[in-house]
Amino acid sequence: MPSGDIGLIGLAVMGQNLILNAADNGYTVVAYNRTQEKVTHFLANEAKGKSIVGATSIENFIAQLKRPRKIIILVKAGKPVDALIDQLVPHLEKGDIIIDGGNSHFPDTNRRYDELTKKGLLFVGSGVSGGEEGARYGPSLMPGGSAEAWPHIKEIFQAIAAKTEGEPCCDWVGESGAGHYVKMVHNGIEYGDMQLICEAYDLMKRVGKFTNKEIGDVFATWNKGVLDSFLIDITKDIMYYNDPTDGTPLLEKILDTAGQKGTGKWTAVNSLDLGMPVTLIGEAVFSRCLSALKDERVEASSILPGPTVEDVSPIKDKKQFVDDLEQALYASKIISYAQGFMLLKEAAKEYGWKLNFPSIALMWRGGCIIRSVFLGEITKAYKAQPDLHNLLFYPFFKDAVTKAQKGWRSTIGKAVEFGVPVPAFSTALAFYDGYRSAQLPANLLQAQRDYFGAHTFQVLPGKENELLKKGDWIHINWTGRG
Ligand code: NAP
Repeated sequence: MPSGDIGLIGLAVMGQNLILNAADNGYTVVAYNRTQEKVTHFLANEAKGKSIVGATSIENFIAQLKRPRKIIILVKAGKPVDALIDQLVPHLEKGDIIIDGGNSHFPDTNRRYDELTKKGLLFVGSGVSGGEEGARYGPSLMPGGSAEAWPHIKEIFQAIAAKTEGEPCCDWVGESGAGHYVKMVHNGIEYGDMQLICEAYDLMKRVGKFTNKEIGDVFATWNKGVLDSFLIDITKDIMYYNDPTDGTPLLEKILDTAGQKGTGKWTAVNSLDLGMPVTLIGEAVFSRCLSALKDERVEASSILPGPTVEDVSPIKDKKQFVDDLEQALYASKIISYAQGFMLLKEAAKEYGWKLNFPSIALMWRGGCIIRSVFLGEITKAYKAQPDLHNLLFYPFFKDAVTKAQKGWRSTIGKAVEFGVPVPAFSTALAFYDGYRSAQLPANLLQAQRDYFGAHTFQVLPGKENELLKKGDWIHINWTGRG
């Protein structure tokens, strides 16, 4: 009789930790890896004495699993996932479940879901967030795909997931690639949160002239208020960390060119595809791109002038400066999440998914990199008003942004005055001002398009006349020439 409750393929960082987590929760896990030595080493060390068994081949792996077989793949995203699925399929039976827990791009998950569904197999693409620590002690899990798979995996998924106020940070997300889509947007939001924190640090350093210790103290204080979150918490630690060789802040010795693995870019590209103004994530991705142009920036820094010391008025009231900055960060963060949920809403419409918004906010509330107290408020908002049109319309967030507005504008004003770039703060405010503008200058844009390309325009309600008729697409001969 097979003894394995669940099987996992891929014994790198994530796979090993997720196996240990499942074993600690009372499940028997079958472990397999392409390179066999990793299985042997894992069984003899980390897995020793736990309910974990090794497999020597794909056939041996499958033979050890109870039916329906539940197989998690945690390998490098892309071709390795397809290669493994191809190896597994000939040995599986109808109703068996393949779960891809890697960072797969959602169109790949959609494709795999379609292909495997045709073969009578169930496929789940699950976002897994929280890194190594999360995988070991409770990640945020975002599963989506074949809905029939959920009753079979729900218990184990919710058992191994992080818990927030007793509730698991894992629920069914939706059909086909919805799980990986939600994970992609999570990562995009993570890019935005990180960029906002970087801008706050830069302002404290370059405008406020704070030391790293002082900046750490500010983050420590913020972490006790509305900005309480994992990322603010770790940033505080980074500010306090000194290089043991000379006792000076290690942060200031790190090369300022940011890396990226692509999930932020996927979110930005998808938002363009769906026509959603997810501007903050876009700016966060572009900021990383700009940071990577280090050599050009160094050259430009000696050629292109900015404000001089005489042009700026130094910060006199540091407390006010920090309070304003906190408000700017908070308001910008609200905008970023409002944009993220606008994208999710549009994706649900475009791809035909029934996304559960309170659950999504709850899944991000613990275990993952963007975990924060703030997400609890988003869960509350969507629970109270499941059909909420936009987070900004919910009284809690509307009031928060209203209260933050003065400090937010003042912070951006200071940044502009000092010539310190704050693309994420600025785009958040530009979005806010655009979103609350009943009238935008797109009337001129439409006129220009009609002028040079006869693209036509519609008349503004209330301005109709004989020439400009309601509902018509109108073209004007702007020059009077034939
Ligand atoms: P990884 O470095 O992305 O991948 C290494 C694993 O993939 C190894 O087990 C390797 O097997 C296997 N592999 C590579 N090519 C293969 C192929 N063609 N056939 C079979 N197996 C193959 O591992 P990871 O960092 O643990 O991440 C696993 C997945 O989780 C990735 O999709 C990653 O993006 C995602 N993820 C990672 C994190 C994180 O913090 N690391 C967080 C969330 C999600 P061999 O030992 O034989 O080379």
